[in-house]
Amino acid sequence: MSALSSVTVIGGGAVGLATAYYLRKADLDVTVIESGRPGRSTSWGNGGWLSPVLSIPTPGPGMPRMGIVETFQRDSAVAIRPHAAPSMIPWLLRFARHCTRSAFESGSARLGALSREMFDGFDELADLGVPVEVPRQGNLRACLTEAEARHQLAGLAPMRAAGYAVPDRIMGAEEIHELEPELSDGVRSGFNLPEERHVDPGAFCDTLAEYLVKQGVRLLTDTRVTGVSASGGRVTAVETTGGQVRADALVVAAGLDTRLIAGWLGARLPIRGGKGYSFFVPSEHSPSHPLYLSHTKVGVTPLKGGYRVLGGMELADETLRINPRMIRGMIRVARRYLRHLPADESLDRLPDLWAGLRPMTPDGLPVIDHLPHLSNAYVNSGHGMLGVGLCMVSGAALTDFMVSGRRPDVLAPFGAARF
Ligand SMILES: Cc1cc2nc3c(=O)[nH]c(=O)nc-3n(C[C@H](O)[C@H](O)[C@H](O)COP(=O)(O)OP(=O)(O)OC[C@H]3O[C@@H](n4cnc5c(N)ncnc54)[C@H](O)[C@@H]3O)c2cc1C
Repeated sequence: MSALSSVTVIGGGAVGLATAYYLRKADLDVTVIESGRPGRSTSWGNGGWLSPVLSIPTPGPGMPRMGIVETFQRDSAVAIRPHAAPSMIPWLLRFARHCTRSAFESGSARLGALSREMFDGFDELADLGVPVEVPRQGNLRACLTEAEARHQLAGLAPMRAAGYAVPDRIMGAEEIHELEPELSDGVRSGFNLPEERHVDPGAFCDTLAEYLVKQGVRLLTDTRVTGVSASGGRVTAVETTGGQVRADALVVAAGLDTRLIAGWLGARLPIRGGKGYSFFVPSEHSPSHPLYLSHTKVGVTPLKGGYRVLGGMELADETLRINPRMIRGMIRVARRYLRHLPADESLDRLPDLWAGLRPMTPDGLPVIDHLPHLSNAYVNSGHGMLGVGLCMVSGAALTDFMVSGRRPDVLAPFGAARF
């Protein structure tokens, strides 16, 4: 039996809300404290892909070389900018140490184990009548050459071997255009990952937040946590801009700010921001599939009334300043793959230009654990490029740990003390 009766969650992004869902389901009194509106930070303008096959760590073989080379290329969509923040260099060195084949393979296996049940929580919400839309068009890899498609597909062989739905052949030009007529004539090949799904991430957070309130979760919006009180090895209260909130147990799910808040509690979590961008293209010519544009790290997600183009990975600039060079790089890439992209001039004036900071760890794995030295404080953060896809499984596993007191095996690689 759980000794827990109430929990305070800091952060109302996808991860905090999903955690609150499972805590409430376990019959606990739950308070979520969110400094703005729920789901309006990094959980807003992202791709919304729920992609078990692509649940791999960000650091990978070749990443440092690619980042550094592309930093010096104009209009690139990938950049590591150590000159922007010297304080980030130790983190970047740690990140670089994880860019080996063996670290990548073991990280992929660990994330693969966590993401195996990725869709269950989304299906459960749908079964409860929560109006979360989770289209199932798969995820289409579009390539300019057959050689590139073959190369990309070969990279996914380990996921096929692990039992995921990965096709064993590439499509030719005719077949891929028949499947997705919005691809440009330049796209000659590719393949579809048929079981991948996606959500509109902002709409998902809005819907989940609304459901939580109906279930009795106390959702404090526009309320910033400014401090945490602890005594006798336990967190006792959270100080906020709206006054003090008593805390029997605490979950820190504050995205990038998790580093700061965990620091108040004596835990050093190396979570840094990996900046990415998106823009929305209102269009009658939206692709019907989420698209991964070959090796470019640019993606497309169909949404109501158009589609979102997303991409960019800037390490070392933790502001939300929009770098026009990165946007131009994404536009240039998208133009090569999509048949109907409006002229540059109108894209430059896009109203929905967005930047978000992915909460990244140097090994590319989230932190889902107990915080060291405190008996009632937990963390659920650092999901990098995967926070929307992994929010439900992470929330479920952490809740299981908190309620049962036993750490589920699947969480073993995601400890807070590993740094
Ligand atoms: C361009 C781009 C594309 C992406 N595409 C995908 C994708 O397709 N699929 C996917 O799974 N992931 C994707 N991601 C990653 C995903 O967006 C993140 O992993 C995810 O949103 C992280 O969610 P979170 O809840 O941890 O953080 P956040 O969404 O940042 O939520 C944290 C919340 O905590 C609040 N907070 C912070 N400090 C305090 C405080 N002191 N007091 C109170 N509240 C506080 C913040 O206001 C915020 O709302 C993408 C990211 C980017 C940038």
